[in-house]
Amino acid sequence: MRIAIIGAGLLGVASAYYLAKEGHEILVLDRQSGPARETSFANASLLTPNHSFSWAAPSAPWLLLKSLWQADSGLRFKPHMNSQLLDWGLRFLRHCTPGRHRANTLAKTRLCFYSMAETDKVTRETGISWQRGSQGVLYLFRDRHELELNDRNLALLREVGAAIKPISWDEVVAIEPGLAHACSKFVGAMHGTSDEVGDARRFTEALAEVCKARGVTFRLSTTIDGLDLEGDRVTALKTASGPIKADAFVLAAGSYSPQLARRAGLHLPIYPVKGYSITAPVGDPEQAPRTGGLDEGTLVAFARLGDRVRMTSVAEVGGYDTSYSPENFTKILATGRELFRDGIVLDRAEHWACLRPATPDGPPYIGPTSVRNLWLNTGHGYLGWTMCCGSARLLADQMMGRATELDTRLYRYGRY
Ligand SMILES: Cc1cc2nc3c(=O)[nH]c(=O)nc-3n(C[C@H](O)[C@H](O)[C@H](O)COP(=O)(O)OP(=O)(O)OC[C@H]3O[C@@H](n4cnc5c(N)ncnc54)[C@H](O)[C@@H]3O)c2cc1C
Repeated sequence: MRIAIIGAGLLGVASAYYLAKEGHEILVLDRQSGPARETSFANASLLTPNHSFSWAAPSAPWLLLKSLWQADSGLRFKPHMNSQLLDWGLRFLRHCTPGRHRANTLAKTRLCFYSMAETDKVTRETGISWQRGSQGVLYLFRDRHELELNDRNLALLREVGAAIKPISWDEVVAIEPGLAHACSKFVGAMHGTSDEVGDARRFTEALAEVCKARGVTFRLSTTIDGLDLEGDRVTALKTASGPIKADAFVLAAGSYSPQLARRAGLHLPIYPVKGYSITAPVGDPEQAPRTGGLDEGTLVAFARLGDRVRMTSVAEVGGYDTSYSPENFTKILATGRELFRDGIVLDRAEHWACLRPATPDGPPYIGPTSVRNLWLNTGHGYLGWTMCCGSARLLADQMMGRATELDTRLYRYGRY
């Protein structure tokens, strides 16, 4: 079978890897000049099954409302309105009940754990390296109420195997010596022992090379303008250089998936949620981070990637704008300085912003659609790195008509 995959981000490339293993002829298309040039380019670099909550939570509507007057909050709503947002927002609000939050969080967590095992398998099978760090991830709390709330919420994740526990400040310092000076700023810490750190871009690029060596074709700098349909099947992708035909198509276009799905008559409730990141060289190694973590007070994440440090923040519901200005990075830089002092050369930081493809309930869309040969692997929100290999395996198993290890109804388009 000839399969065309739209998107060479984490999800498109992982899908290509699993489908190529089945012996299919795979073509990956992307408008960018290389793999992982959009959202998969410079994310927070954390693989965090132990922290895989659905954003649609009972507290979310209040947090979004509060962000209208608290400009520096981690979760932000930038006032704007369009029909895509209205539809997504109403669905999001419907999922903010305790019951839906629980079900959606468990669906995500199961996929995250499944995916971590798949990522490990892919890494061993291929020998690719992605600056992997396996010493777990730290969650640092500045507020006692937040810490207690988090511990209560974690009971849910522990039901499906989460390995996360409270640790003392001495234990924090044993993992992250650069934080020895910062004890007075925090009231407590958690350690997600099976969480990991790694560069999503390196992973995607390295896996794309493996795919090429196994016969996958990458057609880059090619924008898909639409889909040709005959009855309930896609026959070709429309491009400026003519139609591209295949027997089956996988839509893995991140935040831009709804626009392409619409051309096939599908309504895909995915909305972009913007985030900002910096990547800076390591300074004094004694003060620099050694692994990954999240400052739950400022909602700034950090990760050590070889001789660089990645820091990210903000979830901003503001449409498709990917521009940024210096003030968008103020909080990240201030947290970097406060926690790691001279450990990160912040004045040499590279800046970046991109869009998380978020579904209203949290879990992604993986599997078939009402268009018989159009499949989805998209909508992974803030956990696309953590969920990528598991999602690609679930997709391939479904396309091959095989039994899957997880209940695919939880990740199916049209599940509500
Ligand atoms: C700031 C930030 C921090 C994050 N941190 C983490 C983290 O620590 N851990 C984690 O698990 N996840 C994290 N994520 C989420 C994760 O990065 C995303 O879920 C993941 O990258 C999405 O991958 P994707 O392949 O779906 O999308 P993308 O990487 O965006 O790939 C989609 C591809 O489709 C292509 N495309 C789109 N439309 C067209 C078209 N019409 N024609 C041709 N090509 C097209 C694009 O060029 C793009 O290359 C973070 C995201 C952000 C923004």
